[in-house]
Amino acid sequence: MIFDIARRSLQSKSVLIPVESLLGTATGSRMPIVADSRLNRAIAQRVVEACPTSALALESANGRQHLALNYGACIGCGRCIEVGGGAFVAAEKFTHCGVSKTGLVRRWDVENGAEIVADEPAMTAAAAGIRALLGRALNVREVDSGSCNGCEQEIIALTNPYYDLERFGIHFVASPKHADMLLVTGPVTRNMAEALRQTFAVTPSPKLVVAVGACGCSGGIFSGSYAFEGPVDKLVPVDAYIPGCPPTPSMLLTGILRVLQQKFTGTQAAKSATPR
Ligand code: SF4
Ligand code: SF4
Repeated sequence: MIFDIARRSLQSKSVLIPVESLLGTATGSRMPIVADSRLNRAIAQRVVEACPTSALALESANGRQHLALNYGACIGCGRCIEVGGGAFVAAEKFTHCGVSKTGLVRRWDVENGAEIVADEPAMTAAAAGIRALLGRALNVREVDSGSCNGCEQEIIALTNPYYDLERFGIHFVASPKHADMLLVTGPVTRNMAEALRQTFAVTPSPKLVVAVGACGCSGGIFSGSYAFEGPVDKLVPVDAYIPGCPPTPSMLLTGILRVLQQKFTGTQAAKSATPR
C-alpha cells in the first residue's frame, strides 16, 4: 500500500511552478491600479470618498492635483474599481512588496492619469540571482500579532508543493532564537504588543523584520480600534513591507526575495533594510 502511494507520487506530474512566473504576480490579490488616462478629477474625488480605509487621497503639488494610493492601507475591497468608471482595474502585476514604507505609495496626475513616480523596477533581476543569493538557509519566524488569520493562510500556502518556499532554502522555525527574519502579521493588538517586543529582543542580530498585510503596514481595518497598538513599525523597526489583505503567496514570495536581494546585493533600498 505504502509502496503504491510512493510509486504513484513519483509517477505524477510535478505541479511546482517556476519562480519566474511567481514574482510580481498579483492575480487574486485584488490590489487596484489606475488603468489609463480615463482618470479625471471627478473620478478621483469619487474613489477617495468610496475608499473605506483612506488608502486613496488627493494631494496638491506644484499647482497640480495628484491621487495618492497607499497600498499599505489598501484592503483590496474593490470599491475604487466599482466606482472608478474604468479608470481602476485589478492589478495583474504587482511589485510593491518587500519595499520601504514610502515605496508603498503610488501617485497619479488626476488630469491625465500619468504616474508621478515611476513604478519600482520589475523583479526580473531577482529571478536570475535568487539561488546565488541564498548560499545559506534563511530561517523565518512568523509572528501573529493579532491577525484575523487570513495572512497566515497565505503564508501556510507558501510551503505547499505548488509554491514550495523551501526550494530556496527558506524555512519557518518555531523559535525566534533561531530566526534571521521576523514575518509579522496583524495590526499589533494590546495583548500582543509586549510579546512582539520580546520576540524582537530575543531574535539574534543581524535580523530583518517584514510587516505583512494591510494590518502589519498600517493597521488595516483594525486601525483606530480600542485594542490597536500598532502598526508594527510603532513597536519594532521594520525593514520592509508587504501589502495586501491578505497578500497572495506570490506577493509574499516577491517581498521576501526582494528583501533578500537588497540585503545581499546592497542595492539602493538596502539602506532601509540594514540588518541589526
Ligand atoms: S481597493 Fe483599496 S484603494 Fe480601492 S477602495 Fe478598497 S481599500 Fe481603497
Ligand atoms: S491584512 Fe487582512 S487578511 Fe491580513 S490579518 Fe489583516 S485583515 Fe486579516
